[in-house]
Amino acid sequence: MRIEAPLEVSSPEIGLVRISHVRAVAGPTFHELISVTVSIVATSRPVRVEVTLMKKASGRGQHLLFSCPTCSLPRAILFAGDGGLACRPCTNARTRRQLESSRASWRAHDVVLEDRLLRLLGRRCLVAAALGHARRMAHEIAEGDHDRYAGLLPIINAVTAMSET
Ligand SMILES: [Zn+2]
Repeated sequence: MRIEAPLEVSSPEIGLVRISHVRAVAGPTFHELISVTVSIVATSRPVRVEVTLMKKASGRGQHLLFSCPTCSLPRAILFAGDGGLACRPCTNARTRRQLESSRASWRAHDVVLEDRLLRLLGRRCLVAAALGHARRMAHEIAEGDHDRYAGLLPIINAVTAMSET
């Protein structure tokens, strides 16, 4: 049996919606869906669009994914843009790595590690080993911050001492 009225899904993330958000809202009826109405908070203006879902063969089974409103290809993530919703290639949406990897701060301030940590924590399900890995990365970032602060402390003390005299 198919569901008649499109399911309403509000994305918990700014500017995009993931198929995992739809799966979480739909629960056991997920595989019966033919379309969903998604609401997204975006930087320009909020978007509320009905999106068709499509099946994509994968391994022995099939995945239910969004059909990109622009190119009609199966996509797991759609991005809010001026023209409504579209996939990454259609919107030219760039990842944080693509935007920031050429900057000096990308390597200097553990941004690579921070990006890896956030992507790890964004996974649908985390096993105990992944959580342990996430904890170690968070600790490493905090240690790096502590080391940088310790390196800056003599300069901070010198400047403070000069301004007090
Ligand atoms: Zn597309």
